[in-house]
Amino acid sequence: SLPPEVYRQAVSQADLAISITDPAARILYANESFSRITGYGRDDIVGLNESVLSNHTTPREVYADMWTALRARRPWSGKLLNKRKCGDVYLAELSITPVLDAAGEITHYLGMHRDVTELH
Ligand code: FAD
Repeated sequence: SLPPEVYRQAVSQADLAISITDPAARILYANESFSRITGYGRDDIVGLNESVLSNHTTPREVYADMWTALRARRPWSGKLLNKRKCGDVYLAELSITPVLDAAGEITHYLGMHRDVTELH
C-alpha cells in the first residue's frame, strides 16, 4: 500500500483543480491547479463556499439537479460557468463526489474540475 504522503502529493500536484469541502460546500482544501485555474490562492479560498466561483448565469435547475444527486449520495458531473478571482468567466467541466464515513453519512465533498473554455 502507498504511504499517505504519496496520496497527499498526488492530489496536491494533480493537473485537475481539486477541492475538498465540508457538507455545506465550504472549502477546506484546494490544490495547486485549483489556484492556477481560479486565481484564488490557498489563503484566499479556504473557508469560502464553492459558490464564490459561480458566475450566477448557470440555470438554477443545474444546481437543483446537482444537490438532488449529492444529497442522495450520488456523484454529479456537468458544466458550469465559473468566474475567476479576476472576474474572467470560464467554462468548468466539474465532477463532485460525496465522501461517506463508515456509517454512510456525508462528511465531505470532493470536487474536481478543468477549464474547457477553449474546447467549446
Ligand atoms: P445556493 O443557494 O448555494 O444553492 C442553490 C440551491 O442548492 C439551494 O437552494 C439548495 O437547494 C441547494 N444547496 C446549496 N447548498 C447545499 C448544501 N450544502 N446541501 C444541500 N443542498 C444545497 N458551484 C459553482 O458555481 N462552481 C463550482 O465550481 C462549484 N464547485 C463545487 C464543488 C463542490 C465540491 C461542491 C460541493 C459544490 C460546488 N458548487 C459549485 C456548488 C456551490 O456550492 C453552490 O451550490 C452553487 O454555486 C450555487 O450557489 P448559489 O449561491 O447560487 O445558490
